[in-house]
Amino acid sequence: MRVYNFSPGPSALPLPVLEKAAAEMTDAYGTGQSVMEMSHRSKDFKPIFEKTESLLREIMGIPANYKVLFLQGGASLQFAMVPLNLAAGDKPGQGKKAAYIDTGIWSDKAIKEGSKYADVQVLASSKDKAYTYIPDAPAASPDTAYYHITLNNTIVGTRWDKIPDTASIPLVSDISSCILSEPLDVSKFGILYAGAQKNLGPAGATVVIIREDLIGKAPDWTPIMLKYDTHSSEGSMYNTPPCYGIYMIGLVLEWIKNCGGVTAIAKLNQEKAALFYNYLDSSKMFSSPVVKQFRSLMNIPFIFKEQDETKKAELETRFIKEAASAGLLNLAGHRLVGGMRASIYNAMPIDGVKALISFMEKFES
Ligand SMILES: *Cc1c(COP(=O)(O)O)cnc(C)c1O
Repeated sequence: MRVYNFSPGPSALPLPVLEKAAAEMTDAYGTGQSVMEMSHRSKDFKPIFEKTESLLREIMGIPANYKVLFLQGGASLQFAMVPLNLAAGDKPGQGKKAAYIDTGIWSDKAIKEGSKYADVQVLASSKDKAYTYIPDAPAASPDTAYYHITLNNTIVGTRWDKIPDTASIPLVSDISSCILSEPLDVSKFGILYAGAQKNLGPAGATVVIIREDLIGKAPDWTPIMLKYDTHSSEGSMYNTPPCYGIYMIGLVLEWIKNCGGVTAIAKLNQEKAALFYNYLDSSKMFSSPVVKQFRSLMNIPFIFKEQDETKKAELETRFIKEAASAGLLNLAGHRLVGGMRASIYNAMPIDGVKALISFMEKFES
């Protein structure tokens, strides 16, 4: 029996995608091989790779002057690659200015890593209120190499409700937990990056969408694997790319297209999130800690209203255990923030959200 998996990542994949992958496991497209066994440079793998890229371009509306790279190292490696390629100086320690907005644990990690290579300016932070809102984005000085935001904050459950205007400074965003969840105007960004394991496919592949004029700026001392130029000029095949992950992303993109594309998926995501937030806002036992305007469609943290810390901890343990027995998995909040969290990415059907709500109603009564 399939469970409803509310894991923040790696997370649920659409059932039709898993079934297709299973059917093609030992003999993909009549080649007599699994995709896992194919040379990345072979004529068998080439159409799989090309289909994945062209579907991503089509579904996200990626303009022609952007490159799509399939890399490894997760979103976390981008925390270093972005500053190395856009702001690092001729010698370590001579980096250019880079602006960051601190909206949670992932942006904090990006800031710490960025500070090794760039002159990082944290222009705003929502840490004062436990990251429960998105601060205004102040203007950066014109000599800033890039402006970094985390569009959806997976752990605290906030999302930027509008894209900040950074004038001529390239806007860079970590979209790991919201890629393809709703339409996004790629042309407003210099770089977008996402680890695959939230909304795209299995862990292992990382998608980077980069405007061409931002490629080729890394200083010579940059490790070759960390230069965008290396991967861009070799079509993501400087070394072996995460082939099977790329194939799975292709299947997920096909599924999104069959669902009616990002606009249709976004409508469903809004419906799912509205159901759950409405329930939380009307509940006597649970609540959402996040300011309404900035609530994420993908990751929904929730807490018990109970004030007594001991009782609250007992309730949480009991809730997570009983939910798991009811087939509702991975509802514990991030280990750094506690509470509960339901991650409802594209692959979570609306019936999963309804099942969670009815479980919570029963728990309340
Ligand atoms: C999960 C996540 C990351 C970390 O991704 P890795 O691929 O594990 O490095 C970074 N940023 C955000 C917003 C995430 O949700």
